[in-house]
Amino acid sequence: MKKITAVLAALLIVLSAVSAAGSMETESAIRAYTENASPKYVFMFIGDGMSSPQTNSAQVYNGRNQSGLVELQELTFTQFPVVGLQYTQDSTSFCPDSASTATSLSSGFKTHSGVIGMGVDRVTPGTTIAEMLHDKGWKIGIVSTVTINHATPAAFYAHIASRNDYYDIGLQMADSGFEYFAGGSVNKADDGEKSIYEVLEDKGYLVTNDKDTILSLNADSGKVYAYSPVLQDDGAMPYDIDAPADSLRLKDFVKKGIDVLYNETGFFMMVEGGKIDWAGHANDAVANMSDTLALDEAVEVALDFAKAHPDETLIIVTGDHETGGMTIGYAATGYNTAFDILRNQKCSYIQFDSYVEEAKADGSFTFDDMMAMVEEYFGLVAPGETAVNEALVMNDYEYAKLQKAYADDQSGNVDGYEESLLYGGYSPISVTLTHILNNKAGIGWTSYAHTGLPVPVYAYGEGAELFVGAYDNTEVAHKLMDLTDAR
Ligand SMILES: [Zn+2]
Repeated sequence: MKKITAVLAALLIVLSAVSAAGSMETESAIRAYTENASPKYVFMFIGDGMSSPQTNSAQVYNGRNQSGLVELQELTFTQFPVVGLQYTQDSTSFCPDSASTATSLSSGFKTHSGVIGMGVDRVTPGTTIAEMLHDKGWKIGIVSTVTINHATPAAFYAHIASRNDYYDIGLQMADSGFEYFAGGSVNKADDGEKSIYEVLEDKGYLVTNDKDTILSLNADSGKVYAYSPVLQDDGAMPYDIDAPADSLRLKDFVKKGIDVLYNETGFFMMVEGGKIDWAGHANDAVANMSDTLALDEAVEVALDFAKAHPDETLIIVTGDHETGGMTIGYAATGYNTAFDILRNQKCSYIQFDSYVEEAKADGSFTFDDMMAMVEEYFGLVAPGETAVNEALVMNDYEYAKLQKAYADDQSGNVDGYEESLLYGGYSPISVTLTHILNNKAGIGWTSYAHTGLPVPVYAYGEGAELFVGAYDNTEVAHKLMDLTDAR
């Protein structure tokens, strides 16, 4: 910590001298600094859809909500010594998507929403930090809780005009030669002539979703695609809150990544918490926060490695954009928060949806059947009834909303303007329940899509000081390229 403070002080002196002297000196000062810092083990964590509201909510969720004694619980990465801020707009919009923002983070230029690894002409490919470092002999790991050919992980190895061309992205993954892919499965793996898994095997990859095989992987395992034996929506890993107790979690795939990638030349590992974004789209704060906490546990694994390899390791934790317009504060709760009641939610919205589908398949799904499930999985009860916590008794307004959601679910009335605002394309019942519970806790949502909120950058280790300040998201890539001498 002392070293970091000293370096920071020196850098600040240089920067203030520079602001007087002009940009030429700025460049040479930064060049001198980056030449002295040379990390060879780089972790880049990306919480998809994770900005300040998401990290702050996770801190509050794990903190103390007692009036007079309110306190945050820090996360591992929120205690990193360096914090910066990146702006996330892409060439399409101030509400960007993951394809363009991850391209900016991996390759250092802007492009359209939906485009991966290509410029604004949708034709000219760039070169990603991962490809540059791979060419230098570093080993590369790409880890995500969602499918590995989804936009964010793809932006580190693929160059394609549409993020929806999953099969072609899968082919490019197999061609990358990167040493370690892990976490979620391959989306639409069978949409072409040959399964992407077979293509990977043809290219020399060990492809496995067997837990014991995954746990035995090491530096001699060669190129690996290791995915979770337990999958949920669209082939992604389960939300952390839904994961069976003995299942492999994000931190396990990071730990294994270190075992596979460790070598004397260097490694770069991108780790995405992809379902923070999905929970944000669905306005499910509990799934959102528990996946943010799971990402933090994975960061802790990297931090342990960094402490064992000081002066050689850099850890960056950031997001690609904010999702959901999440806020601490809601119109009906004024200055109050009650995050403790969120503990009564026992599963994610998508898991609840699957329970509802099971109930429907069993024949009867009456309003009373639903209310029994609402109490079991969200703790909420009808007006006048007794709940485990008084705050979980719905008022008449909330109850009427839930009655409408049940009726709309039964009749399929989800396409009107009002319904699109109420449900955002999600199951009317589960999204209404997360809204009611989140709002009671003092959490508001303004969107089912992304927002333009800037995103923090947390940095630790060799070269971390370079990430202080506010800058465009493309600068994240350039800073990494400078520090690793990648170009
Ligand atoms: Zn998203």
